[in-house]
Amino acid sequence: MNFENLNLIQPLLNAVNKKGYLNPTPIQEKAIPTVLQGKDIFGCAQTGTGKTAAFALPILQLLETEKDRNQRRAVRALILAPTRELVAQISEEFSTYGKGLDIRIVTIYGGISQKNQTQALQSGVDIIVAAPGRLLDLMNQGFVRLDKVEYLVLDEADRMLDMGFINDIRKITAKLPAKRQTMLFSATAPDEIRKLAASLLNNPVQINLSPDTMPPILVSQSVYHVKKENKKLLLTHVLKNESLKNVLIFTRTKHGADKVVKDLIRNGIKAQAIHGNKSQSARDKALKDFKSRSIRVLVATDVASRGIDVDKLSHVINYEIPEQAETYVHRIGRTGRAGETGAALSFCSADEKPYLKNIHKLIHKNIDVVTSHPFAIN
Ligand code: AMP
Repeated sequence: MNFENLNLIQPLLNAVNKKGYLNPTPIQEKAIPTVLQGKDIFGCAQTGTGKTAAFALPILQLLETEKDRNQRRAVRALILAPTRELVAQISEEFSTYGKGLDIRIVTIYGGISQKNQTQALQSGVDIIVAAPGRLLDLMNQGFVRLDKVEYLVLDEADRMLDMGFINDIRKITAKLPAKRQTMLFSATAPDEIRKLAASLLNNPVQINLSPDTMPPILVSQSVYHVKKENKKLLLTHVLKNESLKNVLIFTRTKHGADKVVKDLIRNGIKAQAIHGNKSQSARDKALKDFKSRSIRVLVATDVASRGIDVDKLSHVINYEIPEQAETYVHRIGRTGRAGETGAALSFCSADEKPYLKNIHKLIHKNIDVVTSHPFAIN
C-alpha cells in the first residue's frame, strides 16, 4: 500500500512526500479511509505508530474539500491532547501537512500568556489544537465558539483522564454540535476510557493496533541490576559509549530528574531536565536543545515526556523502573519509532525487582540481563 492508494488530494501527497514518508503506517492505512468516509474511530494505539498523521491528513482533506459549507472562518476541527508538548507537536504536524492549503491553525495551552492565542482566535481559525484546561479557560472568557465544530479528536485520552481532565473534557464536548465526527485515541483502554468512548463516539470503527503489552518490535531491551547508590556511576559508565547518541532518561520524580542532570553535568555530560516544575520556556528550550543535538541527554518524568517526539532517538534509559508496567512500554516506545531501531536500558535496584517482574509478565518475556558492567550485582 502506498499513500496514492489512500485517495489523498495532491497537496497532502506532496506534503507527505516532502516529509520523506514512503508508505503509510498500519494505523494510517486503516484510519485514513475510515475518516474520509465520515466514520468515528476508537483507536488503541501508542505514540510512535504514526497516529497523528492518521487523523491529521484526512481531517485536513475534509476541511479543504468540504469548505463551501462555511462562509466565514469558524472552528471546524478541535484536537484535544494532554500536554503542552504534545499539543505543540500535533499542531506542528497539522501545519506541515497543511502547507499547501488555506487553513489556519491555533495552538492553545497554558503556562504562557493567552494574548497570542486570543488574537489568533479573534482573527478566525479553522483548527484548534488545545490542552483542555486553557481551552476551557478561554471558552469561559468568551473567546472560543465551538458550535461549528465538525471534527473532534481526543488524543492520548487515557493520559488526559490520568491527569484529571475528565470534567474539562465533558464541559468542552458539551458545547460541540451533536452531529460531528469524533476520533478517540488511547494507548490503553481501561473501563473509564470505554465509558468515555461510549458517550462521545457514534458507532465507531475500532482500530486496535498496539496493545500495551506490545513494545515496539525494533527496540532492543536490556536490564542492569545495580545497587541504588551505584546508579549514577553506572549511568556515567554507560554514557561513555558514544553509540548512545541521544538519550532520554526517565526518573520517577522531578527531584530525581534534577539530581541526575546535576550528576551528569558534573561529569561533563550535557544534559537538561524536563518536568512539571520547569517553566514553559525552560521546557521548550530543553526540548529544542535536545532535538538539535546541542545536548545529548534529556532527563524527564513520565508526565512531562508524554508525546515527546524526537526523530531518531537512539536510546531510552529507565534510571528508575516505573511502578506501572504499562509505563515501561510507553517509555520505551519513545525510541524505535516509525521503523527506526532503538534500545532501552533499565537500571534495576533490589527494591525495584517486583516492578520488573510485573513488566516481564505484561510483555510476556524476560528482558535480557547485562552482567558485563563494573557495578553488576546478582
Ligand atoms: P506519532 O505516532 O504520530 O507520534 O508519529 C511518530 C513519528 O513517525 C513522527 O515523527 C512522524 O513524523 C513519523 N511518521 C508518521 N507517519 C509516517 C510514515 N508513514 N512513515 C514514516 N514516518 C512516519
